[in-house]
Amino acid sequence: MTNRSELADLLFPQVTIQPEQIAAQNPPRSLPPGAKVTRFAPSPTGFLTVGGLYATMISERMARQSGGVFYVRIEDTDKKREVQGSVEDMIESLQQFGVSIDEGPTLTGGETGSYGPYRQSSRVGIYQAWIKRLLELDLAYPCFCTEEELNEIRERQQAAKENTGYYGKWAVHRNMTLDEVREQLASGRPFVIRLKSPGSPDNRIKYTDLIKGDIEMPENDQDIVLLKSDGVPTYHFAHAIDDHLMGTTHVFRGDEWLSSVPIHLQLFQVLEFRRPEYGHLAPLMKMDGPSKRKFSKRKDRDATAHYYRSQGYPSLAVSEYFMTLINSDYEEWRLANPSEPYTRFAINTDKMNVSGALFDMNKLNDVSKDVISRMSAEEVYTLASEWAKAYDEELSRRLDADKTYALSIFGIGRTPEKPRKDLAKWSDINETIAYYYDDWFESTVHDIPLPAAVDETKAQQIVRDYARLLDLSDDRDVWFGKVKDLAEAHGFAKEMKLFKKNPEAYAGHVGDVAAVLRAVLTGRLQTPDLYDMMQVMGESRVRSRLGRFVE
Ligand code: GLU
Repeated sequence: MTNRSELADLLFPQVTIQPEQIAAQNPPRSLPPGAKVTRFAPSPTGFLTVGGLYATMISERMARQSGGVFYVRIEDTDKKREVQGSVEDMIESLQQFGVSIDEGPTLTGGETGSYGPYRQSSRVGIYQAWIKRLLELDLAYPCFCTEEELNEIRERQQAAKENTGYYGKWAVHRNMTLDEVREQLASGRPFVIRLKSPGSPDNRIKYTDLIKGDIEMPENDQDIVLLKSDGVPTYHFAHAIDDHLMGTTHVFRGDEWLSSVPIHLQLFQVLEFRRPEYGHLAPLMKMDGPSKRKFSKRKDRDATAHYYRSQGYPSLAVSEYFMTLINSDYEEWRLANPSEPYTRFAINTDKMNVSGALFDMNKLNDVSKDVISRMSAEEVYTLASEWAKAYDEELSRRLDADKTYALSIFGIGRTPEKPRKDLAKWSDINETIAYYYDDWFESTVHDIPLPAAVDETKAQQIVRDYARLLDLSDDRDVWFGKVKDLAEAHGFAKEMKLFKKNPEAYAGHVGDVAAVLRAVLTGRLQTPDLYDMMQVMGESRVRSRLGRFVE
């Protein structure tokens, strides 16, 4: 037995499994050529952010469009920073926004897939097997330095104007003898396992980032910690083992990880693993007054994926919008292929934004209005009801209580020629349909806004006369004929043309008269089509509102 094997056994007597045995349980995936295996590897330290959702959508699309696999792995090696419920929020948000997960933890606490476990905290034995191997190969070593000793090293480095950290001649425990290690262990001192970095700052590494292109950086020479004193690996080490065993081919992640690439490349090299391709994404930006800035998890309510769920953006709208952010030629494709699902568009890393894409809320709203305008009333009803169940009890009750009425309300203006675009999200529903419900109407509408051409007395006369003409079985032409006659009888032009030619001759035009009816029935001057609305409201509701106004 060599000295190094003795050392490895001394430090990890309980670890008996060999890396080869573990590798055999995680055989290479059998996938078609070119298939990409991608992953979302969050630390469960909070809610899924919009940026996280964006990166994840890219990963999932890349896997999906190449016939590959997209999986989720929870990087929970730092238990102190863990936030309760964040794994559930992340999985739920991904599902909600149409990101389908092939493998990983499930909401019921289990997992799917044969490359698990998919939580790093359940994989400690796996990491330790490789740690032991690196110790045997003299590629890693135990370090017993205390916090104070490390501080002292840093101070000396600063005084000598040298790079700080644990490397080269400063790595004082790099070459301990077996006896020295025994001595330290006997005194009960905790230890970490460090990489014996083969790198030098005089060398530069080159690699091609999928998004940022060719990158050159100094090689890593730090003897970074691989395993902490509690036996749990650091993120760097764990992710290399996992990406290897789980067969990851492409990693898309935030560019805050770009500076770690030299460490990651070195780890893959030392472990003799083939490394995945990396694509580093600049953070999404938002407008703050006239200037652009990054989203702030702490300041911005709209920085989490949950916000878009709670506001009731349909998942499809968010996906459609993200597609426009991911590839600049998506909109063109969408126009040319209006009825294809977005999943038919192949995203391409060459067309991704190298600097941060701007997340524009107005644009999202417009995309979402389009998406909702193409839905059937039934679809709107189903999705809105689902949303309301979780976020708006009152609306949920109303939608449940009379589905037929709700369907006829949502059905107004759902025509391909002139689609209704008044809903960007389900939380807009209250505002847009409240007036169809009498109790809501009565409790919220206190003043009837009138068009400028009509005063209160005139409006009363118009409404009183209209009540006598009202017959909801009239077809649209007959109905409008009556409104025109009514206009004429009150001194308003029955045609817009007539009014334009000779405005002084009239009190206003037929549009003003219709506006009075609209306002009296809904409490507002802008609504979908008046005739359709009255049909939906039904005769007795219409009569009672007309009556309420004249009283
Ligand atoms: N767990 C890391 C994070 O929270 C993942 C980094 C990576 O994707 O490699 O961002």
